[in-house]
Order: sequence, then structure tokens, then C-alpha cells
Amino acid sequence: MSNPSLLILPGDGIGPEVMAEVRKIIDWFADRRDLVFDVSEDLVGGCSYDKHGTPLTDEVMAKAQSVDAVLLGAVGGPAYDDLDFSVKPERGLLRLRKEMDLFANLRPAQCFDALADFSSLKRDIVAGLDIMIVRELTSGSYFGEPRGIFEENGERVGINTQRYTESEIDRVARAAFDLARKRDKRVCSMEKANVMESGILWREVVQAVHDADYPDVELTHMYADNGGMQLVRNPKQFDVIVTDNLFGDLLSDVAAMLTGSLGMLPSASLGAPMDNGRPKALYEPVHGSAPDIAGEGKANPIACILSFAMALRYSFDKGDEAARLEGAVEQVLADGVRSADLMQAEGGKPASTSEMGDAIIAALENSL
Ligand code: NAD
Repeated sequence: MSNPSLLILPGDGIGPEVMAEVRKIIDWFADRRDLVFDVSEDLVGGCSYDKHGTPLTDEVMAKAQSVDAVLLGAVGGPAYDDLDFSVKPERGLLRLRKEMDLFANLRPAQCFDALADFSSLKRDIVAGLDIMIVRELTSGSYFGEPRGIFEENGERVGINTQRYTESEIDRVARAAFDLARKRDKRVCSMEKANVMESGILWREVVQAVHDADYPDVELTHMYADNGGMQLVRNPKQFDVIVTDNLFGDLLSDVAAMLTGSLGMLPSASLGAPMDNGRPKALYEPVHGSAPDIAGEGKANPIACILSFAMALRYSFDKGDEAARLEGAVEQVLADGVRSADLMQAEGGKPASTSEMGDAIIAALENSL
């Protein structure tokens, strides 16, 4: 059997810096765990525009479609702010998401004990938190027609349409149930079935998918406004939350703030299963290219490293090795290693990007 394939797109700004640390970790897994990937690397974003005049070439797009998973750093930067919209760095990322049809966006909210004081909530509410929000990404209010600003009875009216087909709900529900099977086997579906027909359909379809194919997973339903309240009241009650595009946009940002720094947050976007059973997948940190610190060795590589851990778990079925990597990150933080974004008033010298990567490798070594 050939090795699983991974396309790495470091991108712009701090993207290449944090990705260099992921490369060390990929090499460690090859050397020490016999987990070998066929890794290729290419351009996306501003660096692709500089070389090819486009933020994503057709060749790289085709490569992304053919590999088992794509790992992306970040795109964008002030040098590209004045470019035409059609060739802006972000267009490269949007094209990847659209053409790979990545309909399920996964945002974990995981709070490492050592960082619990970074949250705006009390330590005991967030310490040890580990939840996953699955947001539908390609339909709903951000895409539904009709949309626009129209003239009506002598005044303007702004219209967006919340629209979901059964098959769109079905596939994102399956993605959530499949994930739950790799976690604590609990899904909470959130909508507004009390006031929206699209919410009634959402609830019916999620329940039907559950009853037909996932009876081993516990399913509950919650109105999305209550969901927002519960996320700040008692977030540890959840395992996997599945919700639509608009509510997911809000709820995943709320959940992100439970855990502290942007430099810690990974994400994944998944599409339909390919012939080999693996979903189309793009893994990336939530943060951007951070032009204010690019090139200074200050970036925290953990968000990108945890994105690779997600790839191990959700694309390559290596949940045990993902846990090993997450455990190494947890150990390093517990040992007090801090990149600049994780420094609080106590002072001291922050770890550089590569020092953080090296500390995680050392912790991986200790895990053997
Ligand atoms: P940003 O996420 O790049 O930075 C926001 C703040 O967080 C900055 O102060 C930055 O220094 C800090 N930060 C971010 N990641 C960090 C890390 N790993 N370690 C330490 N500190 C970190 O968001 P922004 O400043 O709004 O955007 C900068 C550029 O990135 C823009 O061109 C924007 O379009 C682009 N962007 C890209 C993506 C993406 O590639 N997915 C996402 C968001 C923004």
C-alpha cells in the first residue's frame, strides 16, 4: 500500500514559519512512529500571485483534489490589499473550499489546563474543555436566493434567504455523527425550529439520519439561542455540536473565545468521502498571516500543529497518534513554555516559534 498523501500550502506571512514546525513534527512521526506521508509543498495566496499572477493555479487546485488531505498555513498581507478582488490571496483559499466542496467546517474548542486563566470565563468552567462545533459551510443564509438590496414601495429592502435542502442537512449531519463516533458519541443539533421552517426541516432530517444509521450516538436538539447561552454557562456539557452556516459562524466564535489565544485554534473543513473512504479535507489554523509579527520568529505554531493532529484523527484514523501530539502540546504548556501571545503579566522570555516546535518534539520523544 502506498503512503497517505499530504499537500502542504504554507502561504504568506507567518504561514511558512508555523508550517516549518509542522514539518519537523511530520518528520518525527515518520522516524519514530513509522507513520510516513507522501508530502508535497506548493504555493497559495500572495506568494502564488507573486510567481504566477494568480492566488491558486489550476495545477495546485488539481493536486489538492487528488491528495488525501491538504494542510494550509495562512494567506494574505498588506502587500496585496490593493489587488483586484479576483486575485486577492483569500480568493485562493475560497477556491479551494468551493471546488473541494467542503461543506462541514470543524472548529474544536479545547482548553488546556495550563491556559485556563486566559479564558474570559472562570477556570473551573473551561479547564479541560474539549468540544467540537460542526458548522455547515456551503449553504444557508450566506448563499440562499433571493438575496440583494431592492427597491420596494419607495424604500430599500435588504434580503437574504435561509434555505436548506434535505440532502445538504443530511450530509452535514452524517459528518457530525461520524466525528462523534471518534469522540464521546454525543451530538447536539442546534437550530430555531420554534420560529423557522428551515429549522423544523433541519431537526427532522438530523433525527431521521440518526435513527436510520447512527443509533449508537446520543442525539439531542437545542434552540440555537439557548445553545449560545449554554456555551458560556456550562460548555463541558457538549461533545459535538452541529448547526447551520449562520448560527455556526456565531457559535464557533463564542466557543473559540472560551479557550484564549488565536495562536492555539486549529480547524478543518471536510467534504464528501472520496473513493478511498476518506473525506475531502483541508486543515488550517483559524488565525491569519499576522503581518505584524511575520518574519520575527514570534508566531505560536500550536494552532497549525493541532491542525495536523486533526488531520491524523479525522483523515488518517490515527486518533492515538493525534492524542500523543495533543498530549505533547499539553505537556509543554504545563511545563511553562510560552510563546509571546501566551505570556501574561508574569514576564520572562517568550519561546520563539522554533523553540516551541522543538519543545513539542522533545515532549513527543518523552511520550515513547
Ligand atoms: P490575524 O489572525 O493574522 O492576526 C490577528 C492578531 O493575532 C495579530 O495581532 C497577530 O499577530 C495575532 N496572531 C495571529 N496568529 C498568531 C499566532 N499564531 N501567534 C501569535 N500571534 C498570532 O488576523 P488579521 O490581522 O485580521 O489579518 C492579517 C491578514 O491575514 C489579512 O491579510 C487577512 O486577510 C488574512 N487572514 C487570513 C486568514 C486565513 O488565511 N485563513 C484568516 C484570517 C485573516
